[in-house]
Amino acid sequence: MKLDTRAMRYLASEDWRVLTAVEMGSKNHELVPTPLIEKIARLKGGASGVHKSISALAKVGLIARVKEAKYDGYRLTYGGLDYLALHTHSARKDIYSVGTRIGVGKESDIMIVADNQGTQKVLKIHRLGRISFRTVKSNRDYLKNRASGSWMYLSRLAAMKEFAFMKALLAEGFPVPEPIAQSRHTILMALIDAFPLRQISAVPDPAKLYGELISLILRLAKHGLIHGDFNEFNILIKEIKMTTESGEETLTLEPVIIDFPQMVSMEHQNAEMYFDRDVECIKRFFSRRFHFTSTEPGPFFKDAKRAMKKAGLTRLDATVEASGFTKKMVKDLEAAIREKEAMKADGNNSDEEEEESDEDEDDEEDPSDNGGEIIIGVANEVDDLDAELASKSTENEV
Ligand code: ADP
Ligand code: MG
Repeated sequence: MKLDTRAMRYLASEDWRVLTAVEMGSKNHELVPTPLIEKIARLKGGASGVHKSISALAKVGLIARVKEAKYDGYRLTYGGLDYLALHTHSARKDIYSVGTRIGVGKESDIMIVADNQGTQKVLKIHRLGRISFRTVKSNRDYLKNRASGSWMYLSRLAAMKEFAFMKALLAEGFPVPEPIAQSRHTILMALIDAFPLRQISAVPDPAKLYGELISLILRLAKHGLIHGDFNEFNILIKEIKMTTESGEETLTLEPVIIDFPQMVSMEHQNAEMYFDRDVECIKRFFSRRFHFTSTEPGPFFKDAKRAMKKAGLTRLDATVEASGFTKKMVKDLEAAIREKEAMKADGNNSDEEEEESDEDEDDEEDPSDNGGEIIIGVANEVDDLDAELASKSTENEV
């Protein structure tokens, strides 16, 4: 699924209103029936205006018509949710234009965006719950009918959790990108001018960098946290060049950690496994890439846990629950993340992991992929609309 913002400017304010109505309706309907869309949107133009907007939205793939035995209705597509999130970021003046896509993971798309001052930022669009329906056909109906398996819900949870952790980590002085805003399944953050460790072929002092990365693992642990995916893709290495007074150039490497939806607490029942896996990941990478092996064994989970208790620092593992996450949300998200992990481990078959769908998937290059910047429409009314519709969300049942 690729973010294609070209249709954004052509949507009228009624279309946005109808799109938001479909989103609201999705909260308690798998398929949102047309009369409900009309009821929520309450367009001045009445039903015919709504129908016009519905056709316009369906034509550009933001909603999709689904026919079922009981009734026909519409569902929001990935594209539709992407547009709503972008629209909100744009109304808050956080995003003015969307540029290149820099990363495509199984769980996310990473885009470079800019505000109207030209400041570049990173928009991470979570795409969780896009379970391999082809490989897990038997799961299909089960997953489809399970609210906790819905991609919209899971992707939003992933974004909420990641945003909450990034804020908490930054506040404790951890080297993470500054989180700027969250809307739905997206987070906006500062762009780090750096390459992932994965792309770095040599470093002046591997032992030093290794030591720093292990210290970061231990520092997280002291705050009650395990990253859970501490690998060479999720560690960005900033190169800071300085010239000393004698004219000598020095190069300092500064790691920045990213990618937090899978973070777990040091109290998690499998904490030791996750901790060891993070440590092992770094050890393996340093040995393969830089031929560096530490003479010290460990670090070990037991010691890290003891240090955590002794340190008595702010426990960031409590942060997510404090930020409005219920136990059920934590459980649903974790199940989805583990499901993905398992699928990656035994399949590694990227073709098979695509979404089944009508709205996917042409990966041909287009102008928006090569730095062609696309200005997205700015409409200030959308936040009001969100708020207005949110206040009505309880009346959505037909
Ligand atoms: P995923 O969950 O799909 O792995 P990540 O958050 O790890 O997503 O981001 C994927 C890639 O995008 C990273 O490996 C990195 O190259 C790039 N990236 C993500 N966030 C930033 C950022 N704030 N600044 C620069 N590059 C980033
Ligand atoms: Mg990653």
